[in-house]
Amino acid sequence: MRSVFSDGDRESLSATAQGAVRFDEPMSRHTTLRIGGTADAWFEPDSISDLTSILMWCAERSIPVSVVGSGSNLLVLDRGIRGLVVATRSLRRLDLLPPTSFVAEAGVSTGRLLKEATERGLGGVEFLGGVPGTIGGGLIMNAGTNLGDFKDVTASVTSLRISNGSLVTRAGHQCGFGYRHSSLPQNEIVVSATFELYPRPRGEIEQAVRDLKDRRAEREPKGFPNAGSIFKNPPGLFAGKLIEEAGLKGRRAGGAEVSPKHANWIVNVGDALAADVLHLVDVARQAVLEKFGVTLEMEVKVVGEP
Ligand SMILES: Cc1cc2nc3c(=O)[nH]c(=O)nc-3n(C[C@H](O)[C@H](O)[C@H](O)COP(=O)(O)OP(=O)(O)OC[C@H]3O[C@@H](n4cnc5c(N)ncnc54)[C@H](O)[C@@H]3O)c2cc1C
Repeated sequence: MRSVFSDGDRESLSATAQGAVRFDEPMSRHTTLRIGGTADAWFEPDSISDLTSILMWCAERSIPVSVVGSGSNLLVLDRGIRGLVVATRSLRRLDLLPPTSFVAEAGVSTGRLLKEATERGLGGVEFLGGVPGTIGGGLIMNAGTNLGDFKDVTASVTSLRISNGSLVTRAGHQCGFGYRHSSLPQNEIVVSATFELYPRPRGEIEQAVRDLKDRRAEREPKGFPNAGSIFKNPPGLFAGKLIEEAGLKGRRAGGAEVSPKHANWIVNVGDALAADVLHLVDVARQAVLEKFGVTLEMEVKVVGEP
């Protein structure tokens, strides 16, 4: 696909950015499904001010901007992503705000926040046991498990407006958190958040996380790239059970497969294309609608050029 960056843009962007910039970057390197065409440009900001100046650079040239955390909930289309992709993983400052809060930049991994909280005897983020991703992606998705989700611990979220680089801070209750959903605007990039935890004995935290991980290990497919659950659970139902009862476990399209272990996971068993995954998504949706009258909604975000 034709890049939106001219040769002059490439030189200018590389000269303006402090952090790493790469052009024509395969997104399959940056998604846990290992799928996705190339991004015109990939940018890992050095700091929030570096990100701000590159957002202004893009705004002046009407270059589209999108954002990726660790790509664990993303299906990037085969034609790739036009414009600039901001990779937040380089924003990884994490500070304890005594006595019981943390301030985390967007690219801090969920695993690191859980580890630091556990070491300090602070409870509240046990729900993150085994949930991959970054703080930014977790907030956008309101990621969680049966132990809780981001909504329960988020005191505030700070974002940058893509159009003008201005900062906006919202209290947790203003973020519109729901089941695997937030109303944080799509024209903003989350840069940091404050989490309010509570004192809990380290042994209890570790036990809760171990139990959660053991339960997950029993039901989660292993060994093939995936993005976790493809669909949200409809109210009172389990998407995986509906897909299984529609007889689709093990169904393949190209290199994608409805996991024989958990029907709500689509796994990449060998060079799958996004089109293969989307085909299985359509098949599952259609079958579940016909058999049960239930419409499945995707949990995984589909991004890129259709
Ligand atoms: C093996 C496996 C197990 C999983 N288990 C669970 C689970 O138990 N519970 C659960 O909830 N999820 C689960 N997931 C899904 C995934 O881990 C979560 O949705 C996670 O929060 C995504 O974070 P990320 O950083 O990878 O976001 P990405 O996948 O990179 O992005 C997700 C969305 O957030 C946006 N985004 C990311 N960062 C920012 C930012 N800084 N500002 C603005 N927008 C941003 C992206 O544009 C995209 O729309 C699982 C995934 C895998 C692969």
